[in-house]
Amino acid sequence: MLVFKLMKTPAIADLPDKFGRAATSIARRLREHGFQGWLVGGAVRDLVLGRPTKDVDIATDARPEDIERLFGDVKGVGRAFGTMIVFVAGVPAQVTTFRSERGYSDARRPDTVEFGSTVEEDSRRRDFTCNALYLDPLDGTCLDPQGGLGDLGARRLRAIGDARERFREDGLRLLRLARFAADLDLEVEPATLAGARESGGSFVGVSGERVLGELQSMARRERPARAIELLGEIGLVERVFPAVGSAALERRSAVLRALAAPVVGDTLFFATLVLDEVLENPRATTRRGVEARLVHLRPSRELSDDVDEVGELLGEFGRWLAEPPRRSALVLAGRRKTLGLATHLARACANLDFARLEPFLERIAGFSEEELHPRPLLTAQDLEAAGIPKGRRWRELLDSAAVAQLELELTTREAALLWLRERA
Ligand code: ATP
Ligand code: MG
Repeated sequence: MLVFKLMKTPAIADLPDKFGRAATSIARRLREHGFQGWLVGGAVRDLVLGRPTKDVDIATDARPEDIERLFGDVKGVGRAFGTMIVFVAGVPAQVTTFRSERGYSDARRPDTVEFGSTVEEDSRRRDFTCNALYLDPLDGTCLDPQGGLGDLGARRLRAIGDARERFREDGLRLLRLARFAADLDLEVEPATLAGARESGGSFVGVSGERVLGELQSMARRERPARAIELLGEIGLVERVFPAVGSAALERRSAVLRALAAPVVGDTLFFATLVLDEVLENPRATTRRGVEARLVHLRPSRELSDDVDEVGELLGEFGRWLAEPPRRSALVLAGRRKTLGLATHLARACANLDFARLEPFLERIAGFSEEELHPRPLLTAQDLEAAGIPKGRRWRELLDSAAVAQLELELTTREAALLWLRERA
């Protein structure tokens, strides 16, 4: 069967050199001290799928204190949960003690972590079968206690154990389901999908930080539109983005599809999802307040500013189509950091006539650095010298002089001083 041909026997030799060396060296050190060390999770799964490896996760029966003792360069990020970061030749590897988790009471994080001693036990607390593959870096043994290889062969994403229970234990797994199905191009196995549909409530209380992390992974991986559609299918869109109705979901996933590119990226992903008025009616007035829509996710200042700015630019584009922009508006837009992203998004918006927008964008692209950032003809010193009392009037004068300069109405210092004398 063709699908099986696409699968590969996972082999350490296929890892990028630095990852292979890190995994092997950690496993060897563990073995020397009588412990097991298995490469696990995304790395093994991606080896099977022939996809690039993103990080190194090692599962071991060694306890955090053993790990600390055995490795020189260690950070105890999640010591209580048994996760330590071990640095080998510059590669940060997550080394996690086998667990057998019980006692989730709030669908967020396990209350207590019981360390386990076997791979089988450890595999049961993982999320999906394809994420519970274990590869021994030293002898190449591959353990598949949950049938992950078979599921990958059939291109199936299946929860480990009772799907409903697993999603109730940790609501973040609902997002992970959408992310993996989209990125890995897998079909969600029916019982897993049904379990997810019934477990939306467990999403309440999952921390914004963890949610944001998963959404960013969606944005940076393949097929983010499919991920969003899946979130719609399991009824999670309203929970993740309370300000985004599922009514507009189709339009949004169409925009995400049209953005195509190899990856959509964080800013455009969030912009597409939260800038509904602008996307539906790009002529709408300037859109601020993205912050309110994303605040529950605690995005970085940079991300929320960028999303905001993309929204403002889209609103601006809409106004340009209604009434051709003045030169100063084009220069100001040309200074914006996210102009490229906003252009990309505008092109993907079916309800924005991009062909008519293009000449304006071409004009912006033609501006020289000097035209984008000309040295001001009028400065605060000039206002002071003209004896204008300090206050709001200063800002107004400086701003309108700057606009007049960008409109090429003021082109020389003399003209600017004359302009000031007329107003002083
Ligand atoms: P990638 O690194 O490509 O995003 P991954 O599968 O490695 O994918 P990580 O978030 O790095 O995902 O997690 C590593 C492994 O830890 C997973 O493969 C899975 O076995 C387990 N895991 C992570 N998060 C959870 C969770 N919320 N519930 C259960 N198991 C999890
Ligand atoms: Mg990983």
